[in-house]
Amino acid sequence: MISRRAQRIPESGIRRIFELVASTPDPINLSIGQAHFDVPDVLKDVATSAIQQGFNRYTVTQGLPELNERIVGMLADRYGTGNTWSLVTSGVSGGLMLGFLALLDPGDEVLIPDPYFTMYAVLAEMSDATWRTYDLYPGKPLTEATLQAGVTERTRVLLINSPSNPTGRTLSGAELDAVAAVARRHDLVVVSDEIYQDFVYELPFASACQHVDADRLLLLGGFSKTYGMPGWRLGWATGPEPLIDAMRRFQQFSFVCAPAPLQQAALAALDVDMSAEIEAYRAKRDRIIDGIADHYACSRPGGSFYAWPEIPGDIGSERFMERALKRRLLVVPGKAFSARDSHLRVSFAADDDMLDRGVDALCAIAEEIRRG
Ligand code: PMP
Repeated sequence: MISRRAQRIPESGIRRIFELVASTPDPINLSIGQAHFDVPDVLKDVATSAIQQGFNRYTVTQGLPELNERIVGMLADRYGTGNTWSLVTSGVSGGLMLGFLALLDPGDEVLIPDPYFTMYAVLAEMSDATWRTYDLYPGKPLTEATLQAGVTERTRVLLINSPSNPTGRTLSGAELDAVAAVARRHDLVVVSDEIYQDFVYELPFASACQHVDADRLLLLGGFSKTYGMPGWRLGWATGPEPLIDAMRRFQQFSFVCAPAPLQQAALAALDVDMSAEIEAYRAKRDRIIDGIADHYACSRPGGSFYAWPEIPGDIGSERFMERALKRRLLVVPGKAFSARDSHLRVSFAADDDMLDRGVDALCAIAEEIRRG
Protein backbone atom coordinates (compact mmCIF):
# COMPACT_ATOMS: atom_id res chain seq x y z
CA MET A 1 0.00 0.00 0.00
CA ILE A 2 2.73 2.44 0.91
CA SER A 3 4.96 3.78 -1.88
CA ARG A 4 8.65 2.93 -1.97
CA ARG A 5 9.28 6.63 -1.60
CA ALA A 6 7.32 6.70 1.65
CA GLN A 7 9.07 3.61 2.92
CA ARG A 8 12.41 5.35 2.48
CA ILE A 9 11.42 8.20 4.82
CA PRO A 10 12.71 7.58 8.35
CA GLU A 11 11.07 8.68 11.58
CA SER A 12 12.37 12.09 12.66
CA GLY A 13 15.23 11.91 15.14
CA ILE A 14 13.61 14.72 17.12
CA ARG A 15 10.36 12.80 17.53
CA ARG A 16 11.63 10.87 20.52
CA ILE A 17 12.40 14.17 22.21
CA PHE A 18 8.82 15.35 21.63
CA GLU A 19 7.62 12.16 23.30
CA LEU A 20 9.98 12.77 26.20
CA VAL A 21 8.72 16.35 26.55
CA ALA A 22 5.18 15.00 26.81
CA SER A 23 6.09 12.32 29.35
CA THR A 24 8.55 14.26 31.55
CA PRO A 25 6.96 16.25 34.39
CA ASP A 26 8.22 19.83 34.58
CA PRO A 27 11.03 19.30 32.04
CA ILE A 28 13.95 21.68 31.60
CA ASN A 29 13.17 21.92 27.96
CA LEU A 30 16.06 23.17 25.82
CA SER A 31 14.99 21.18 22.78
CA ILE A 32 12.65 23.76 21.26
CA GLY A 33 12.99 24.87 17.63
CA GLN A 34 10.85 28.00 17.81
CA ALA A 35 11.13 31.37 19.54
CA HIS A 36 9.65 31.39 23.05
CA PHE A 37 7.79 34.70 22.55
CA ASP A 38 4.32 35.05 21.04
CA VAL A 39 3.22 36.97 17.94
CA PRO A 40 3.18 40.77 18.60
CA ASP A 41 -0.37 41.95 19.44
CA VAL A 42 -0.47 44.36 16.54
CA LEU A 43 -0.05 41.43 14.13
CA LYS A 44 -2.72 39.37 15.87
CA ASP A 45 -5.05 42.34 15.35
CA VAL A 46 -4.23 42.55 11.64
CA ALA A 47 -4.80 38.80 11.22
CA THR A 48 -8.10 38.71 13.08
CA SER A 49 -9.46 41.78 11.36
CA ALA A 50 -8.47 40.31 7.96
CA ILE A 51 -10.51 37.23 8.87
CA GLN A 52 -13.42 39.34 10.16
CA GLN A 53 -13.42 41.42 7.00
CA GLY A 54 -13.74 38.32 4.84
CA PHE A 55 -10.20 38.11 3.51
CA ASN A 56 -10.56 34.34 3.58
CA ARG A 57 -10.46 33.29 -0.06
CA TYR A 58 -7.46 32.15 -2.08
CA THR A 59 -4.90 34.76 -2.98
CA VAL A 60 -3.06 34.57 -6.28
CA THR A 61 -0.61 31.66 -6.24
CA GLN A 62 2.51 33.82 -5.86
CA GLY A 63 1.01 35.67 -2.89
CA LEU A 64 -0.22 39.23 -2.41
CA PRO A 65 1.57 41.47 -4.91
CA GLU A 66 2.19 44.12 -2.23
CA LEU A 67 3.74 41.49 0.06
CA ASN A 68 6.03 40.24 -2.70
CA GLU A 69 7.03 43.83 -3.39
CA ARG A 70 7.87 44.45 0.26
CA ILE A 71 9.94 41.24 0.52
CA VAL A 72 12.03 42.17 -2.51
CA GLY A 73 12.33 45.74 -1.16
CA MET A 74 13.37 44.50 2.29
CA LEU A 75 16.18 42.43 0.76
CA ALA A 76 17.31 45.33 -1.41
CA ASP A 77 17.35 47.65 1.64
CA ARG A 78 19.30 45.21 3.78
CA TYR A 79 21.77 43.84 1.29
CA GLY A 80 21.74 46.33 -1.58
CA THR A 81 21.08 43.54 -4.04
CA GLY A 82 18.87 40.54 -4.72
CA ASN A 83 16.63 38.88 -7.25
CA THR A 84 13.34 40.62 -7.99
CA TRP A 85 11.32 37.46 -8.66
CA SER A 86 9.60 36.18 -5.57
CA LEU A 87 6.94 33.87 -4.22
CA VAL A 88 5.13 33.78 -0.87
CA THR A 89 5.36 30.20 0.43
CA SER A 90 3.81 28.10 3.20
CA GLY A 91 6.80 28.53 5.45
CA VAL A 92 10.40 27.97 4.44
CA SER A 93 9.47 24.28 4.48
CA GLY A 94 7.08 24.98 1.60
CA GLY A 95 9.77 26.93 -0.25
CA LEU A 96 12.30 24.13 0.22
CA MET A 97 9.88 21.54 -1.08
CA LEU A 98 8.89 23.56 -4.15
CA GLY A 99 12.54 24.41 -4.78
CA PHE A 100 13.67 20.79 -4.61
CA LEU A 101 10.82 19.68 -6.90
CA ALA A 102 11.72 22.39 -9.38
CA LEU A 103 15.48 21.73 -9.35
CA LEU A 104 16.00 18.00 -8.99
CA ASP A 105 15.44 15.06 -11.29
CA PRO A 106 15.54 11.45 -10.06
CA GLY A 107 19.12 10.49 -9.25
CA ASP A 108 20.36 14.08 -8.95
CA GLU A 109 22.33 14.99 -5.85
CA VAL A 110 22.03 17.75 -3.30
CA LEU A 111 25.08 18.69 -1.29
CA ILE A 112 24.07 19.66 2.26
CA PRO A 113 26.10 20.57 5.35
CA ASP A 114 26.80 18.12 8.17
CA PRO A 115 25.37 18.93 10.70
CA TYR A 116 22.14 19.75 8.86
CA PHE A 117 18.48 20.58 9.42
CA THR A 118 16.98 17.11 8.96
CA MET A 119 14.32 18.23 6.50
CA TYR A 120 16.96 18.76 3.77
CA ALA A 121 17.82 15.07 3.60
CA VAL A 122 14.20 13.94 3.73
CA LEU A 123 13.09 16.40 1.06
CA ALA A 124 15.91 15.19 -1.19
CA GLU A 125 14.56 11.66 -0.82
CA MET A 126 10.98 12.82 -1.38
CA SER A 127 12.18 14.36 -4.64
CA ASP A 128 13.74 11.01 -5.66
CA ALA A 129 17.14 12.67 -5.43
CA THR A 130 20.04 11.69 -3.19
CA TRP A 131 22.19 13.75 -0.86
CA ARG A 132 25.78 14.00 0.27
CA THR A 133 27.28 16.17 2.93
CA TYR A 134 30.14 18.62 3.34
CA ASP A 135 31.79 19.11 6.71
CA LEU A 136 30.53 22.13 8.62
CA TYR A 137 31.52 21.25 12.15
CA PRO A 138 32.78 24.25 14.10
CA GLY A 139 36.46 25.02 14.23
CA LYS A 140 37.60 25.39 10.67
CA PRO A 141 36.55 27.70 7.88
CA LEU A 142 34.44 26.39 5.03
CA THR A 143 36.69 26.26 1.97
CA GLU A 144 36.34 25.47 -1.70
CA ALA A 145 38.25 22.22 -1.10
CA THR A 146 35.77 21.08 1.56
CA LEU A 147 32.84 21.76 -0.72
CA GLN A 148 34.60 20.35 -3.75
CA ALA A 149 35.11 17.02 -1.99
CA GLY A 150 31.35 16.42 -2.00
CA VAL A 151 30.65 17.40 -5.61
CA THR A 152 30.03 14.64 -8.17
CA GLU A 153 28.81 14.76 -11.75
CA ARG A 154 25.26 14.31 -10.43
CA THR A 155 25.36 17.27 -8.04
CA ARG A 156 22.82 19.92 -8.99
CA VAL A 157 22.18 21.82 -5.79
CA LEU A 158 24.49 23.14 -3.10
CA LEU A 159 22.55 23.93 0.05
CA ILE A 160 23.69 26.37 2.71
CA ASN A 161 22.02 27.42 5.95
CA SER A 162 23.36 30.46 7.73
CA PRO A 163 22.72 31.07 10.59
CA SER A 164 22.54 27.33 11.06
CA ASN A 165 20.13 25.00 12.71
CA PRO A 166 21.55 23.09 14.64
CA THR A 167 24.93 24.79 15.25
CA GLY A 168 24.21 28.54 15.22
CA ARG A 169 27.15 29.01 12.89
CA THR A 170 27.05 31.91 10.44
CA LEU A 171 29.04 31.84 7.22
CA SER A 172 31.48 34.70 6.57
CA GLY A 173 31.68 36.62 3.32
CA ALA A 174 34.83 34.66 2.41
CA GLU A 175 33.06 31.35 3.04
CA LEU A 176 30.14 32.48 0.87
CA ASP A 177 32.66 33.42 -1.84
CA ALA A 178 33.92 29.82 -1.70
CA VAL A 179 30.33 28.61 -2.10
CA ALA A 180 29.87 30.95 -5.06
CA ALA A 181 33.08 29.79 -6.73
CA VAL A 182 32.27 26.08 -6.42
CA ALA A 183 28.71 26.68 -7.64
CA ARG A 184 30.00 28.55 -10.69
CA ARG A 185 32.67 25.95 -11.44
CA HIS A 186 30.22 23.04 -11.38
CA ASP A 187 27.13 24.86 -12.60
CA LEU A 188 25.19 24.32 -9.36
CA VAL A 189 22.20 26.15 -7.97
CA VAL A 190 22.78 27.44 -4.44
CA VAL A 191 19.77 27.08 -2.15
CA SER A 192 20.32 29.37 0.83
CA ASP A 193 18.04 28.86 3.83
CA GLU A 194 18.23 32.14 5.75
CA ILE A 195 15.25 31.61 8.03
CA TYR A 196 17.34 32.83 10.99
CA GLN A 197 18.60 35.96 9.22
CA ASP A 198 17.12 38.22 11.92
CA PHE A 199 18.67 36.23 14.76
CA VAL A 200 22.23 37.37 14.19
CA TYR A 201 24.56 38.53 16.92
CA GLU A 202 27.67 39.29 14.94
CA LEU A 203 27.07 42.06 12.49
CA PRO A 204 27.08 42.66 9.64
CA PHE A 205 25.38 39.42 8.58
CA ALA A 206 26.56 38.15 5.20
CA SER A 207 23.68 37.00 3.02
CA ALA A 208 24.21 34.62 0.12
CA CYS A 209 22.66 37.23 -2.17
CA GLN A 210 25.72 39.45 -1.64
CA HIS A 211 28.12 36.73 -2.81
CA VAL A 212 26.46 34.15 -5.04
CA ASP A 213 25.53 34.98 -8.67
CA ALA A 214 21.86 35.98 -8.74
CA ASP A 215 21.11 33.66 -11.66
CA ARG A 216 22.03 30.58 -9.62
CA LEU A 217 20.67 31.50 -6.19
CA LEU A 218 17.41 30.45 -4.53
CA LEU A 219 17.14 32.51 -1.35
CA LEU A 220 14.60 31.37 1.24
CA GLY A 221 13.41 33.17 4.32
CA GLY A 222 10.38 33.33 6.53
CA PHE A 223 8.27 34.77 9.28
CA SER A 224 8.03 31.74 11.65
CA LYS A 225 11.06 32.43 13.82
CA THR A 226 11.32 36.23 13.76
CA TYR A 227 7.73 37.00 14.72
CA GLY A 228 6.95 33.93 16.84
CA MET A 229 4.44 32.65 14.28
CA PRO A 230 5.62 29.19 13.16
CA GLY A 231 2.02 27.95 13.10
CA TRP A 232 1.02 30.61 10.60
CA ARG A 233 3.04 28.95 7.81
CA LEU A 234 4.53 31.94 6.04
CA GLY A 235 7.76 32.21 4.12
CA TRP A 236 9.19 33.58 0.92
CA ALA A 237 11.48 32.60 -1.92
CA THR A 238 13.42 34.80 -4.31
CA GLY A 239 15.42 33.61 -7.28
CA PRO A 240 15.83 33.71 -11.04
CA GLU A 241 12.59 34.01 -12.99
CA PRO A 242 12.45 30.49 -14.54
CA LEU A 243 13.00 28.86 -11.14
CA ILE A 244 10.46 31.01 -9.27
CA ASP A 245 8.03 30.41 -12.10
CA ALA A 246 8.48 26.62 -11.89
CA MET A 247 7.99 26.79 -8.11
CA ARG A 248 4.87 28.89 -8.60
CA ARG A 249 3.45 26.23 -10.90
CA PHE A 250 4.12 23.51 -8.32
CA GLN A 251 2.51 25.72 -5.67
CA GLN A 252 -0.54 26.17 -7.90
CA PHE A 253 -1.09 22.41 -7.89
CA SER A 254 -0.18 21.71 -4.26
CA PHE A 255 -0.29 24.41 -1.54
CA VAL A 256 -2.31 26.73 -3.89
CA CYS A 257 -1.30 29.78 -1.83
CA ALA A 258 0.02 30.67 1.61
CA PRO A 259 -2.73 31.34 4.21
CA ALA A 260 -4.57 34.40 2.87
CA PRO A 261 -5.49 36.43 6.00
CA LEU A 262 -2.09 35.76 7.47
CA GLN A 263 -0.38 37.18 4.40
CA GLN A 264 -1.93 40.50 5.47
CA ALA A 265 -0.26 40.06 8.84
CA ALA A 266 3.05 39.20 7.16
CA LEU A 267 2.85 42.48 5.28
CA ALA A 268 2.33 44.34 8.56
CA ALA A 269 5.12 42.30 10.19
CA LEU A 270 7.69 43.85 7.91
CA ASP A 271 7.03 47.15 9.72
CA VAL A 272 7.35 45.68 13.21
CA ASP A 273 10.66 46.23 15.00
CA MET A 274 11.81 43.00 16.67
CA SER A 275 15.23 44.31 17.71
CA ALA A 276 14.40 44.16 21.45
CA GLU A 277 13.60 40.44 21.12
CA ILE A 278 16.80 39.83 19.15
CA GLU A 279 18.87 41.68 21.77
CA ALA A 280 17.25 39.54 24.45
CA TYR A 281 18.29 36.46 22.48
CA ARG A 282 21.86 37.70 22.27
CA ALA A 283 21.85 37.87 26.08
CA LYS A 284 20.36 34.35 26.24
CA ARG A 285 23.12 33.08 23.98
CA ASP A 286 25.74 34.53 26.29
CA ARG A 287 23.93 33.21 29.36
CA ILE A 288 24.15 29.65 28.04
CA ILE A 289 27.62 29.85 26.50
CA ASP A 290 29.23 31.60 29.48
CA GLY A 291 27.33 29.31 31.85
CA ILE A 292 28.69 26.08 30.40
CA ALA A 293 32.10 27.36 29.21
CA ASP A 294 34.10 25.68 31.99
CA HIS A 295 32.60 22.27 31.23
CA TYR A 296 31.92 22.09 27.49
CA ALA A 297 33.81 22.83 24.30
CA CYS A 298 31.36 25.08 22.49
CA SER A 299 31.88 27.91 20.04
CA ARG A 300 29.77 31.02 20.49
CA PRO A 301 26.97 30.88 17.91
CA GLY A 302 26.86 33.88 15.56
CA GLY A 303 23.15 33.45 15.01
CA SER A 304 19.92 31.40 15.37
CA PHE A 305 18.97 30.22 18.87
CA TYR A 306 21.01 27.06 19.18
CA ALA A 307 24.30 26.20 20.83
CA TRP A 308 26.24 23.11 19.76
CA PRO A 309 28.39 21.88 22.65
CA GLU A 310 30.53 18.78 22.40
CA ILE A 311 29.51 15.89 24.66
CA PRO A 312 32.21 15.67 27.33
CA GLY A 313 34.20 12.51 27.94
CA ASP A 314 33.38 11.12 24.49
CA ILE A 315 30.51 9.05 25.98
CA GLY A 316 28.05 9.39 23.08
CA SER A 317 24.54 10.78 23.21
CA GLU A 318 22.81 7.64 24.50
CA ARG A 319 24.67 7.71 27.77
CA PHE A 320 24.53 11.49 27.96
CA MET A 321 20.76 11.48 27.54
CA GLU A 322 20.34 8.90 30.30
CA ARG A 323 22.05 11.31 32.66
CA ALA A 324 20.14 14.29 31.27
CA LEU A 325 16.79 12.60 31.73
CA LYS A 326 17.53 11.87 35.37
CA ARG A 327 17.68 15.65 35.75
CA ARG A 328 14.62 16.17 33.53
CA LEU A 329 16.84 18.02 31.02
CA LEU A 330 15.82 17.76 27.38
CA VAL A 331 18.29 18.62 24.62
CA VAL A 332 18.56 17.06 21.17
CA PRO A 333 21.38 14.57 20.48
CA GLY A 334 23.55 15.83 17.64
CA LYS A 335 23.15 12.57 15.77
CA ALA A 336 19.61 13.67 14.87
CA PHE A 337 21.37 16.17 12.55
CA SER A 338 24.59 14.44 11.68
CA ALA A 339 26.47 11.27 10.83
CA ARG A 340 28.46 11.90 14.03
CA ASP A 341 27.30 11.35 17.60
CA SER A 342 29.55 13.80 19.40
CA HIS A 343 27.51 16.95 20.08
CA LEU A 344 24.21 18.25 21.45
CA ARG A 345 21.78 20.84 20.18
CA VAL A 346 20.90 23.13 23.05
CA SER A 347 18.17 25.64 22.27
CA PHE A 348 18.20 28.94 24.10
CA ALA A 349 14.67 29.83 22.97
CA ALA A 350 13.43 29.70 26.54
CA ASP A 351 12.92 32.04 29.47
CA ASP A 352 15.94 32.91 31.58
CA ASP A 353 14.85 30.82 34.53
CA MET A 354 14.68 27.73 32.31
CA LEU A 355 18.09 28.60 30.85
CA ASP A 356 19.62 28.88 34.31
CA ARG A 357 18.20 25.53 35.32
CA GLY A 358 19.52 24.10 32.06
CA VAL A 359 23.00 25.49 32.66
CA ASP A 360 23.03 24.02 36.18
CA ALA A 361 21.95 20.61 34.88
CA LEU A 362 24.45 20.65 32.01
CA CYS A 363 27.31 21.59 34.34
CA ALA A 364 26.32 18.97 36.90
CA ILE A 365 26.22 16.26 34.20
CA ALA A 366 29.64 17.26 32.88
CA GLU A 367 31.00 17.16 36.43
CA GLU A 368 29.52 13.66 36.93
CA ILE A 369 31.08 12.46 33.66
CA ARG A 370 34.46 13.92 34.63
CA ARG A 371 34.39 12.05 37.93
CA GLY A 372 33.59 8.88 35.93
N1 PMP B 1 14.85 25.87 7.89
C1 PMP B 1 15.41 25.76 9.10
C2 PMP B 1 16.89 25.80 9.21
C3 PMP B 1 14.61 25.61 10.24
O1 PMP B 1 15.19 25.50 11.45
C4 PMP B 1 13.21 25.56 10.09
C5 PMP B 1 12.27 25.40 11.27
N2 PMP B 1 12.71 24.56 12.26
C6 PMP B 1 12.67 25.67 8.79
C7 PMP B 1 13.52 25.84 7.73
C8 PMP B 1 11.20 25.60 8.52
O2 PMP B 1 10.52 26.72 8.97
P1 PMP B 1 9.08 27.16 8.50
O3 PMP B 1 8.57 26.14 7.56
O4 PMP B 1 8.26 27.27 9.74
O5 PMP B 1 9.26 28.49 7.83
